[in-house]
Amino acid sequence: TDVVRLESLYKTYDGGVTALDGVTASFPAGSFTAVMGPSGSGKSTLLQCAAGLDRPTGGRVFIDGTELTATKDTAMTKFRRTRVSFVFQDYNLLPSLTVEQNVVLPLRLAGRRADRHRVRETLDRLGLGDRLGELPERLSGGQRQRVAIARALVADPAVIFADEPTGALDLRSAREVLALLRSLQRTIIMVTHDPVAASYADSVLFLADGRLAGSLRAPTADAVA
Ligand code: ADP
Ligand code: ADP
Repeated sequence: TDVVRLESLYKTYDGGVTALDGVTASFPAGSFTAVMGPSGSGKSTLLQCAAGLDRPTGGRVFIDGTELTATKDTAMTKFRRTRVSFVFQDYNLLPSLTVEQNVVLPLRLAGRRADRHRVRETLDRLGLGDRLGELPERLSGGQRQRVAIARALVADPAVIFADEPTGALDLRSAREVLALLRSLQRTIIMVTHDPVAASYADSVLFLADGRLAGSLRAPTADAVA
């Protein structure tokens, strides 16, 4: 079953730039997909439209059976807060909150109860079990990104959108984070221009000038390690 489906997505910005020019793509449950393409090819626009951060000019977006494009703004915001998680290049952790507080923040903001045991279990699983009370500034880049991934997971989303998640990491930390993302066996859509990052995905979509220019199933990381 497809968790995310994009049907004939078009996006033309005010001023006339066509960023998406008819993109159709499906993302099966548990798949880890990389979206690649040159600067300006429409990757960010695709991510924003797929995640309900922006609306396409035409076409339809389905997540987990809900047509986001047929949903009013307030319902779309609520859907995004509860069913979608994000991982960013710069981690987006709040510097004054501890690791554990950062991880439970989205649950709190969504008015959901944080199950402390499950939060700790998730942080444990990501190798951060002894860092719960630490501030982000005391962590390495790779550790910060793992906190961000823990934060994405505890919301139990239908899909995780990752925007250049290894863009600020050295190669070794990047590989750790990518291996971790792959091991989650979650539905993940990752925008990246880094071939190493893409090699960890199950499949890669290539965008050029707002169109799908090709796709492939990537070799496994073990094959390129
Ligand atoms: P990528 O992420 O692949 O670099 P983008 O989706 O950011 O591509 O951009 C695709 C095209 O849309 C580019 O020509 C870009 O200049 C344009 N664009 C992106 N965002 C906006 C915006 N908010 N307003 C106008 N044009 C935009
Ligand atoms: P699993 O990884 O076993 O499939 P789930 O899909 O239920 O677990 O949840 C994903 C992760 O998010 C798990 O590590 C779980 O501990 C955590 N989680 C789910 N819901 C909550 C919650 N309300 N509070 C804290 N953590 C949660």
